[in-house]
Amino acid sequence: MAHRWGMVVDLDRCTGCEACVAACHAENNIATVGADQAARGRTMHWIHVERYWEGEFPNIRARFQPVLCQQCDAAPCEPVCPTYASYHNSEGLNAQVYNRCIGTRYCANACPYTVRYFNWFNPAWDKPLQLQLNPDVSVREVGVMEKCTFCNQRILAGEIKAKAANRELQDGEVKPACVQSCPPTAMVFGDLNDPNSQVSRMSRSVRATTLLAEVGTLPKVTYLERESSHGDE
Ligand code: SF4
Repeated sequence: MAHRWGMVVDLDRCTGCEACVAACHAENNIATVGADQAARGRTMHWIHVERYWEGEFPNIRARFQPVLCQQCDAAPCEPVCPTYASYHNSEGLNAQVYNRCIGTRYCANACPYTVRYFNWFNPAWDKPLQLQLNPDVSVREVGVMEKCTFCNQRILAGEIKAKAANRELQDGEVKPACVQSCPPTAMVFGDLNDPNSQVSRMSRSVRATTLLAEVGTLPKVTYLERESSHGDE
């Protein structure tokens, strides 16, 4: 495959500000479900920030970990889908074909990262909020499973732009919304097939780890553990 997209999240830099969550909502036409639906476990966030506590009161600190689709190479969501709506595309991404999805939710049950979201209703944007919708991203309807795509629309736009200029896509040229919006640049996106890309170099750090590695899903999102636990890179 030409590209193999991946991401690195440096947990030492993440402040838990959730700018990535807001940017993802805006970029991907994600519905805001409201308090009632959220109380019923029907939240919609293609990326969410987990919060942990370290230490004992009063010497206690909050720690944060952004969690999005891990774009696994051995994705448990794919073989369980009866309609092949969840599949591996030619650039290593776990794609989701909305108009093939019949909403069985087998994929969400198979995913150990709880990053797949079921649409419980047809989202509506009251005027003039419909003007904020991104025309490059479809608005999903009730009964469909959805999740992070690494902002596939941005990847495609970058590839088309590079092809039109008869050149290769440059490292760092494509940035998913979460990566672009992160104030401390805790997130880095790029091509894992390029050994010299920033994401490849960072994923070889001594601090590199993957979420639930023991499950064997082979995620393409790498987390860099905090310096305090590993010393220098
Ligand atoms: S925007 Fe960056 S710093 Fe803020 S929560 Fe997301 S990853 Fe962490």
